[in-house]
Amino acid sequence: MELRYDTFYIGGTWVRPSTARLITPVNASTEQPLGQVPEGAEADIDVAVAAARRTFDEPIGWASWEPQRRAEVMDRLADALDRRADGFVARVSAQNGMPVAVARQLESGYPSAVLRYYAGLAREAVFEETRAGLLGGAIQVRRVPVGVVAAIVPWNFPQALTMFKIAPAMASGCTLVIKPSPETVLDAYLLAEAVEEAEVPAGVINIVPAGREVGAYLVSHPEVDKVAFTGSTEAGRSIAETCGRLLRPVTLELGGKSAAIVLDDAELDLAKIREGLFGATLLNNGQTCFLGTRVLAPRSRYDEVVDAFTALASSLVVGDAGDPGTQIGPMATARQRERVESYIAKGRAEGALLTTGGGRPDGLDKGWFVEPTVFADVDNSAIIAQEEIFGPVLSLIPYDDVDHAVRIANDSSFGLGGTVWTADPERGTAVAHRVRTGTIGVNRYIPDPAAPFGGVKASGLGRELGPEGLNSYLQYQSIYR
Ligand code: NAD
Repeated sequence: MELRYDTFYIGGTWVRPSTARLITPVNASTEQPLGQVPEGAEADIDVAVAAARRTFDEPIGWASWEPQRRAEVMDRLADALDRRADGFVARVSAQNGMPVAVARQLESGYPSAVLRYYAGLAREAVFEETRAGLLGGAIQVRRVPVGVVAAIVPWNFPQALTMFKIAPAMASGCTLVIKPSPETVLDAYLLAEAVEEAEVPAGVINIVPAGREVGAYLVSHPEVDKVAFTGSTEAGRSIAETCGRLLRPVTLELGGKSAAIVLDDAELDLAKIREGLFGATLLNNGQTCFLGTRVLAPRSRYDEVVDAFTALASSLVVGDAGDPGTQIGPMATARQRERVESYIAKGRAEGALLTTGGGRPDGLDKGWFVEPTVFADVDNSAIIAQEEIFGPVLSLIPYDDVDHAVRIANDSSFGLGGTVWTADPERGTAVAHRVRTGTIGVNRYIPDPAAPFGGVKASGLGRELGPEGLNSYLQYQSIYR
């Protein structure tokens, strides 16, 4: 794969960059360069924001269209994305190390399903109603698009997380400037090509890949009306500060350190639960925000839980992300592997018991691979239990009874995902009610587009997905008549 682009998709056309700076995405499995794209600078952001602004402000433009008409464009875009499914899988997986088997589920097909779901919501949603006033007369209550959206996304699920923003923004009549992460730019160009082919009106979707400083510039741009951010808690705090100062609406989907609570009646036969457990704790090489990387195990079955997770982690096929048989690919970048390895070193130094992994896999000399790793006997106050590692590293923590398990689950600065594993789904649901988290699964975890997704505490502000996800892109206007 050797892909070269020399323009940005802005205002419905291909625009020359303001500088000669380039981004060179690299294959995470082979360390080979994959191509080159221009790196956006502040002047490019100015052009993109101006295009989004013009389209939004046009009196008979996109924002004023009947939602049904916008939904037709969204359906066309979903079809154009589906026609490129193989391209998305190949590009995402090469750039960030996501196994193609995972990319096929979540980076193609899933984004277009989210888009079609929001097209459906656009058709059904009530954007205007008239009520009787308490003080006489009638009031027209309108839900109007918030305006120009700055959408900033990370590299771990670049297409799905971009679509979490594009879909509700389009449904509500907003326009967007999207800033992909420098690690995953080639899939963003495929998205731009789909946008062009689907004849999305010029200026609705503008894409400028760039680094964090330029991202910060976009967040504070005077012509931006709302910020939608997915990424680290650290960057989220800085963006929230800017948005607080500017009184600019913001949604933040940040990091996590969720708990997978194994109850004492849980099925632990890997032949039966392997897929669900993998999806909830190790998906995408552990580079997934909602994973239950703190596994809480009842003392009564502690050894069994340790054995099950050790067997799961040690049996996974580690290899080139492009191989259909691979279950764990490399970390997305050299820096990310360093980070994961530094946490493994901290786990050892803190005295946790390493039951499998901990090093680099044999025979994989190129690529940023780390062995799936399990630490047992971890105390919840340990660094590896409190901080987000963002790699295939699980911490097993023993508990005495359910109250203790809930206390440990909630003893975290994060609150994004989580799971409860039990033979009794009612019991699992009752435990789920007690966990302070934005989302949680019983015997499975799948961020379903029909339900609000997001976190509490340091995991973020606001929600994406579901009808609730539309609200962040709308504001109210009351007209007293
Ligand atoms: P990151 O915060 O470093 O970068 C994310 C994006 O923000 C990138 O596009 C980056 O260029 C940009 N950015 C960074 N600092 C910025 C700033 N100050 N202003 C504006 N833009 C800025 O995160 P990452 O390392 O790319 O992604 C991993 C993190 O994302 C993990 O912490 C993970 O948990 C989190 N994440 C959260 C969710 C969720 O939905 N909650 C989903 C996926 C990933």
